[in-house]
Amino acid sequence: MRILLTNDDGIHAPGLSVMEEIARQFSDDIWVCAPSEEQSGAGHSLTLNKPVRLQKHGERRFSVTGTPTDSVTLGLRTVMDGAPDLILSGVNHGANLADDITYSGTVSAAIEGALAGIRSIAFSQVSNREWQGNDSFATARAWGAKVLAPLLDTPLPLRTLINVNFPPLAPERVKGIRGVRQGFHDYSRGSVVEGRDPRGQKYYWFGLEAIEHTLDHGTDLEAIDEGYVSVTPLQLDLTHHASLANIAGRFPT
Ligand code: MN
Repeated sequence: MRILLTNDDGIHAPGLSVMEEIARQFSDDIWVCAPSEEQSGAGHSLTLNKPVRLQKHGERRFSVTGTPTDSVTLGLRTVMDGAPDLILSGVNHGANLADDITYSGTVSAAIEGALAGIRSIAFSQVSNREWQGNDSFATARAWGAKVLAPLLDTPLPLRTLINVNFPPLAPERVKGIRGVRQGFHDYSRGSVVEGRDPRGQKYYWFGLEAIEHTLDHGTDLEAIDEGYVSVTPLQLDLTHHASLANIAGRFPT
């Protein structure tokens, strides 16, 4: 099995090494093509207004001066000498739950893989400032293979992908793994900090704190809150099918 690894935290991120540890439990044919710098929040952006550069770090190990989507694209089209059977993105430092996924470079790398018709899975380790321990990826490391093994041969239709989150608990306190739907946050993104730069110009800096959410039953948010690893299948068809007839009816032909 040939596996392409990527992420949005960058080629040097500790979580990418954890992803590689997990992948090596299943294969030796591992390729890495990841952004050269952190791209958290990049979503599914593709770099169009400037060239990107590819750097070789070792055999089957490359970075791209662009986004996660750029990295997957170059990985598939330029770096690898044959398509992978699997794309793994992560392990992200921080949650990609509920509406987070629309901002997430980690999930978007898996979206790009799904668009290419390749089985693609995003992994994120929910962080918690009270729980960091000596190794903030200990839970992802301990539970990664247990989550991945059943996902390797589960039927996955075209244009679908899988989003996995590990709860912010020590590995032995994790209760298990749940297949759940995507939840939603009640309020828009966290804080906006306003300040002045050294030349007196005003700036704004977006933060991620204080997002309220309702723990609807059967969601990724609830699973994480209750101490489970969440596994959510996602689809690229964003059509809201229940509204389609109504919308179409407003535009009679
Ligand atoms: Mn990230």
